[in-house]
Amino acid sequence: MSAEIIDGKKIAAELGQANAARAEALINAGVEPTLAILTPADDPNAAAYARSLARAGTRRGLVVRSVELPPGVDPEGFEKLLKEAETGAHGVLVLRPLPKGLDPDAVDFSVDPAKDVDGVHPVNAGLLALGRPRFVPATARAVHHLLKTTGVELVGKRAVVIGRSNIVGKPLFQLLLAEHLTVTVCHSRTHDLPGVAREAEVLAVAVGRAEMVTPDFVKPGAVVLDAGYNWNNELGREQGDVHPDVAEVAGWFTPVPGGVGPVTTQMLIENVLIAATGR
Ligand code: NAP
Repeated sequence: MSAEIIDGKKIAAELGQANAARAEALINAGVEPTLAILTPADDPNAAAYARSLARAGTRRGLVVRSVELPPGVDPEGFEKLLKEAETGAHGVLVLRPLPKGLDPDAVDFSVDPAKDVDGVHPVNAGLLALGRPRFVPATARAVHHLLKTTGVELVGKRAVVIGRSNIVGKPLFQLLLAEHLTVTVCHSRTHDLPGVAREAEVLAVAVGRAEMVTPDFVKPGAVVLDAGYNWNNELGREQGDVHPDVAEVAGWFTPVPGGVGPVTTQMLIENVLIAATGR
C-alpha cells in the first residue's frame, strides 16, 4: 500500500489566496491588518523564522512590524516592549527561545488575549477547551485543516496525538475531540507507544524527534499527520517526526517539507485577519 500524499503546499496556496482577498477587503474598509513579531535578537533561527513570516504575511496583505528583544531584557523591559508592539497592532507573536530571565508562562499571560494570534494566553486556551475557540495555535489548526481536506469520515474514530505541548499537542486534542473522534494523547512517559499509536485511525505527531515514528507505529490505512520540523545540518534539509517509510503503510500522509509547515503560516495569517476583523 502507498499512502495518498496530503499536499500542504497546494492547500496553503489556496488558503493564501483567501487570506489575501480577506486582507484586501479589510484594507478597503480602512483597516490595515497588522502583526507585530517580537524576536529574540541573538537567535538566528528565530530571526530567520521572523523574516519568513514577515515575507509571507506581507505577500498576503498584512503590515508586519518586527521588534527585537535584547539579550538580558528584564520582565519590566519586556512588558514595555510588548505594550509598544501591541499599540496599533491587531496581532502579536512572541518568538522563542525567550531571553534568559523571562518566565515563559508570565510572557504568555502578559499578551493581550484579544491580540494573542498564537493562542497561548490562558483565556484563549480556556475558550478552546470549552468548545468556543477564538485564537487557536496555528500548527494545531493546520494539522486539523489538513485532516479535514482528506474527506475521511471522522466521527467516532480513534485518534492518537503524540506530544502534549501547549502549542501543538493539547490544542490539537481539543480540535479532534470537537470532531467527535476518541482521542488519546501520548508523551515521553507513555508505555508501549508504538502499540498505542497502532490503534489510531488518525495519528498526529508533534514530538520534535526526527523520523521517530516508523511504520510499526501505524495501523494500515491510517491518516498520518506530521507537525515535526527538525533541521538536519548534515543533510542540509528539514526532517519530520515521521519516517517517510510510513507512507508504505498509511492511507494518507503529510510530507515534510510541504505538509503542515506552509499551512501553519497561512493559519497564523488568518488568525491576524480574525483579530483585525474583531471577531
Ligand atoms: P515540545 O514542546 O518539545 O513538546 C514535545 C512533546 O513530545 C512533549 O509532550 C514530549 O513529552 C513529547 N515527546 C518527546 N519525546 C518523546 C518520545 N520519545 N516519545 C513520546 N513523546 C515524546 O515540542 P512542540 O513545540 O510541540 O513541537 C513538536 C514538533 O512540532 C517539533 O518538531 C517542532 O519543530 C514542530 N513544530 C512545527 C511547527 C510548524 O509550523 N510546522 C510549529 C510548532 C512546532 P513530555 O511532555 O512528556 O516531555
